[in-house]
Amino acid sequence: MTKYVFILGGVVSSLGKGIASAAIGSLLQARGYKVRMRKMDPYLNIDPSMMCPYQHGEVFVTEDGAETDLDLGHYERFVGISCHKTDSVSGGKIYDRVLRKERRGDYGGATVQMIPHVTNELKAFMESDITDEDFVLYEVGGTVGDIEGTLFLEAARQFANEKGRKNVCFVYLTLLPFIETAGELKTKPTQQAVKKLLESGIQADILLCRSKMPLGDDERRKLGLFCNVDQDNVVAALDVKNIYEIPLSYHEQGLDVQVLKHFGMFETAPEPDLSKWHQILDTMNNFERRVKIGVVGKYCGLEDAYKSLKEALVHAGIANKLKVDIDWIESESLENLDESAFAEKLNNLDGILVPGGFGYRGCEGKIRAVQYAREKKVPFLGICLGMQMAVIEACRNLLGIKDANSSEFTKECTPVITRMKVCEKDGVKSIRPDDEGLGGTMRLGAYPCVLRKDSLASRIYEGADVIHERHRHYYEMDISWENKLAEKGMIVSGKSPDGLLPEIIEIPEHPFFIAGQFHPEFKSKPFAAQPIFKAFVEAAFKQSQLL
Ligand code: GLN
Repeated sequence: MTKYVFILGGVVSSLGKGIASAAIGSLLQARGYKVRMRKMDPYLNIDPSMMCPYQHGEVFVTEDGAETDLDLGHYERFVGISCHKTDSVSGGKIYDRVLRKERRGDYGGATVQMIPHVTNELKAFMESDITDEDFVLYEVGGTVGDIEGTLFLEAARQFANEKGRKNVCFVYLTLLPFIETAGELKTKPTQQAVKKLLESGIQADILLCRSKMPLGDDERRKLGLFCNVDQDNVVAALDVKNIYEIPLSYHEQGLDVQVLKHFGMFETAPEPDLSKWHQILDTMNNFERRVKIGVVGKYCGLEDAYKSLKEALVHAGIANKLKVDIDWIESESLENLDESAFAEKLNNLDGILVPGGFGYRGCEGKIRAVQYAREKKVPFLGICLGMQMAVIEACRNLLGIKDANSSEFTKECTPVITRMKVCEKDGVKSIRPDDEGLGGTMRLGAYPCVLRKDSLASRIYEGADVIHERHRHYYEMDISWENKLAEKGMIVSGKSPDGLLPEIIEIPEHPFFIAGQFHPEFKSKPFAAQPIFKAFVEAAFKQSQLL
């Protein structure tokens, strides 16, 4: 029978609930259990797609095309599974469902209320689309005590009551601050946070306490006594330098054992196979070589805005046994530099990556960086908007079309990046109407891409004919420029199956110049680096050895 684990957070935000959830999932999976990971965000946005990446971090895209919180990226990277549309919900989406039902008359004249209508909708989400999973983990966003989260906790309480308390485990991530002057870890904030959670009728089963140092018996005893949990269920979540140490650290602290004991499953549980985590750490702790990659983007002040991208570079480093140093470069800052100041900014890089993005701000800096990479033969990877920048740069500087641009940015241009009218998904062609707005018309999720034989793309994907990568964009390169660009050395090496949408471009004469209309970073795993990233980092290192 499926068991359910809720991961809640108390005391303060930013304790790393997403990674904690992912790590618990990975430990259960390491014992051979089938694990499902879910995120419930109480905020009122329907999904994070409209949120500023500077505030909320990246928007993660699932294989089936949901725009979700970046925590789903942690789940996929740690547990190696592919999350679904049905694994992510927000307060806004739940209220939207309830209000639509109300308008349709589905409630048969009843007064529509927070309880039971909103809580029932939340419980329906918790139960939906579950088949033979051994464990379903639900991370609840925000901090216990947030007004927005109240109904989520109420729904979780009811859910636990209905499923039977033995089938549900509440893991509560809290903080034990270390007070220098007293030389002590303080338990009081956690005690109070546990009481706050009790106001919702939920007794925490396991306290996962973020802490600078291991917990002493004294702290464990105190927390057990005052928080009404077994002393063994007070587990330290120690600060670590590298997030990939977390599964092993939790295991050493006995977290997976306590979760299994809660469910009465420990005696019969298989031993965990943690070898892949040991291997990764072994590689990461023994890097002897380094490579420097410049990421020329728009949201470089907040690494979370490029979370999956950053991790994909780390994974590519693991696969190549290389420490990847990332130089985050604000593209806008490149725009007005004179030639020598500009070259100085980029000339110590072994590879240049232009990531995805929206809007014109900083784009001329990105285009300048592409030109530099192309002309100076610096390994280059362009992602989504990065590919569009590469096409614009080539049209301007190789074909001499000085006003080449994207119709996303201006109408006063030769639009080489535009909205293609025909689109195909799952064998079905759809025509985009001329007058549509942007809302809901994005190309989202995994699409097939047919690779050209004898191309860099084909070599990178080990000769595969068709690959599937995840998309999140409105615009594409206009395929009618293909032949003209090919004459100047830039070829289209990946296309949609109908041949209408360019998916990958490359320059065969360049040591390594490739860009994709999709986001390869979303599929990268620490133990299975994404092939384009792996090849890019390898090429960057090779190039650095030539200097
Ligand atoms: N802004 C571009 C588009 O909408 C690129 C999007 C992206 O990089 N994800 O097509």
